[in-house]
Amino acid sequence: MINCGSSSIKYQLYQMPEKAVICKGFVERIGESGAALRHQYRDDTTCLQCEIADHQQGMALILDTLVGAESPLDDVTEIGAVGHRVVHGGEEFTGSVTITDRVIASIERFANLAPLHNPPNLTGIRAAKGKLPDTPQIACFDTSFHATIPEVAYTYALPYDLYERFGIRRYGFHGTSHRYVARRAAKLLGMDKHEINCITAHLGNGCSITAVRNGRSVDTSMGLTPLEGLVMGTRSGDFDPAILFHLADRGYDMAALNKLCNKQSGLLGLSGESNDMRTLTEMAADGNRRAQLAMDVFCYRIRKYIGMYSAVLGRVDAVVFTGGIGENAADVRAGACRDLEYLGIALDTDLNGRAVGRREGPITTPDSRVKTLVIPTDEEAAIAADTYKIAGKMEMVPSRAEGPVSLAG
Ligand code: ADP
Repeated sequence: MINCGSSSIKYQLYQMPEKAVICKGFVERIGESGAALRHQYRDDTTCLQCEIADHQQGMALILDTLVGAESPLDDVTEIGAVGHRVVHGGEEFTGSVTITDRVIASIERFANLAPLHNPPNLTGIRAAKGKLPDTPQIACFDTSFHATIPEVAYTYALPYDLYERFGIRRYGFHGTSHRYVARRAAKLLGMDKHEINCITAHLGNGCSITAVRNGRSVDTSMGLTPLEGLVMGTRSGDFDPAILFHLADRGYDMAALNKLCNKQSGLLGLSGESNDMRTLTEMAADGNRRAQLAMDVFCYRIRKYIGMYSAVLGRVDAVVFTGGIGENAADVRAGACRDLEYLGIALDTDLNGRAVGRREGPITTPDSRVKTLVIPTDEEAAIAADTYKIAGKMEMVPSRAEGPVSLAG
């Protein structure tokens, strides 16, 4: 599984179909000084500091590491398939696909919708294909779970030709995570995955919330880009777009506005101190008003969306919290579900307080009509599962491995 960013490549080697992580790691600061590879296998973490000029070199280093002395593989040909995380699949991809030249051309075309993400994703694909030309490569898109959102929910009330000419509409992101936790919720509730209606909140550095009807996404808070919707670490989420004209009148140019909305807003902008929920929780407990305000606005926005999506769905079987904040921050979950008893959500304070550290389970009282669940996300495992399914049954058991190593995170 490869997740390629602008200056980093994260990887995990899976043994399938067990979904067991054999080893994992990342290269970072590609093309910068201080580039390094960090590799975790069994109980050892190795760190290699060296110059990594580009993604091609980074990928070569990863593959060398996977067949190195302290690694599980004898040869890279033992890798049965490679799954790539790709951020934007436009309207074309409704699920994961084998990467062909046509798929590459499409990912390239959608780069105008995700200029920060699709180009590095493609670089990773090309580097992996270059090194493993005969190995099936699969693309798993952040957008594809949201391909089922109906026209009425994905259409912005802007001149319609903007949609026709430029593809301006809601696409949604974090799809792999929303799909994973929705399916897991169905399992925990003993329901069929195509039966469950739920609201899934992915709260990490980026945050989004999705309405799932009969196991399919029917609305989500992120839009054309990941800026819309919930309050995030440094992104504003929803606000009146006229604020931008107002600021443009006062001398802000495009670059400054972009930076303002994506890098200087959200929890960081509100608190003036940090985008990290742990820090804000501590500061708020110490009486810091701005940290408290940041947390309050964050929770209020989630609560508002839970109400909106309850109206969209009509019947809600479960609300799910996931992501670093969703899996750990009991105060945030309590704030997001406050006074929602009338919607059937009755939080159990004890259970909620104990649901930390990637612990899966319900946080509502036994008689709560809508179950609220904490489910640690595992996008990598979901990508590995798609990859395995698409590439067909294959042997990915490294010959020198003494068995799978269970790695947290
Ligand atoms: P990413 O979106 O980059 O994958 P994560 O899902 O890891 O990020 O989420 C990062 C967020 O989770 C940060 O705001 C961090 O403060 C928060 N977080 C992690 N652990 C805790 C914790 N124990 N309590 C509160 N917030 C936490």
